[in-house]
Amino acid sequence: MIRLIKPYVSFNEVESEFKEIFDSGILTNGEYSRKFPSELKKYVGAEFAFNTTSATTALTLAMDILNVEKGDEVIVSDFSFPATANVVEQRGAIPVFVDVNLDTYNMDAELMESKITARTKAVIFVCALGNPSGVHNVETICSKHGIPLVVDAACALGSSENGRKIGNIGDISCFSFHPRKLITSGEGGAVTTSNKEYANKMSVKLMHGAILNEGVSDFVTYGYNYRLSELQCIMLLKQLEKLDAIIKNRADIQKHYIQYLESLGFIPQKYNESVVHNMQSIVFSVPEHMDRDDLIAYLREQGVESTIGTYCMSNCSFYRDKYKNVQSNSLWLEKHTISLPCYAGIVVNDVVDIIKNIFCTKDREG
Ligand SMILES: *Cc1c(COP(=O)(O)O)cnc(C)c1O
Repeated sequence: MIRLIKPYVSFNEVESEFKEIFDSGILTNGEYSRKFPSELKKYVGAEFAFNTTSATTALTLAMDILNVEKGDEVIVSDFSFPATANVVEQRGAIPVFVDVNLDTYNMDAELMESKITARTKAVIFVCALGNPSGVHNVETICSKHGIPLVVDAACALGSSENGRKIGNIGDISCFSFHPRKLITSGEGGAVTTSNKEYANKMSVKLMHGAILNEGVSDFVTYGYNYRLSELQCIMLLKQLEKLDAIIKNRADIQKHYIQYLESLGFIPQKYNESVVHNMQSIVFSVPEHMDRDDLIAYLREQGVESTIGTYCMSNCSFYRDKYKNVQSNSLWLEKHTISLPCYAGIVVNDVVDIIKNIFCTKDREG
């Protein structure tokens, strides 16, 4: 089976630290739980970073810090994993879906601006499949209107636009370390910000809502426990060290796919020139007249794992029934894009040859 992605960390790399952690008995709140966010904020160039258990919990925290409440509106890129809209809905607020650009798959800045109302509490820009293209334009518009910008950077660790890394653009960025992302701790996430007031609020919320008063916990608000264990943090540290090499490897693999697939009518996700795209997913729209679902099924039969690009959130049955506001580009992308396997050591030709076979078979059938 050719997998969609494989983790970039092996047991060998963490074995000695795992042993040390087990021997010490310090399984959480130790050296590595402090070191990981400290290295992460350096890497992205933000002032503050905190561990969370997922991008979803990082986004939940962001919505809380920004006081998103019942009846508020939060503008969201429509082409995303539904967690992006769910965290808005959770708070009784209204996700306002914005359609995306058919080339970059990202929120269109002008369209976004047209959705701003007196009730807009925040904007969530999604770096679709790791692509940061256009985030600066959205940041400019948010600043002009005084609206906080949250970046759903679940897929985008290591990506940058105009020389600035994701994690240091907008007000709050939320990362995922799910196994589908570039670095993983099984489950895990992080939030970064350079806003001191937000960071202070986050640290209280992340300690169950408590502040220390002469060594005694005073629970001044409601809060959360989104901690990672020491084992997870050492896994992440090992991968963060290799991240730039991982990104380089994925870019090479993407080029390789393009070289073979473009002439067959597959169109790759595009990104702006000033951008580093970390290639969290390698996504193409399929040739005209090809059924994307048939292609995924065919690849599965041939032992190749693939999946859809991602979701049109406004077309998920819950959101469609509730808001009746399906976005057309996003829907087109949901139906026509495919995410292809990418990991260290993959033989791209093995996948490409199987895809080419479909075309040969078709030719023979006339
Ligand atoms: C994966 C993903 C999420 C959810 O991440 P978790 O860490 O699994 O919660 C949210 N948004 C986007 C855009 C994602 O790709």
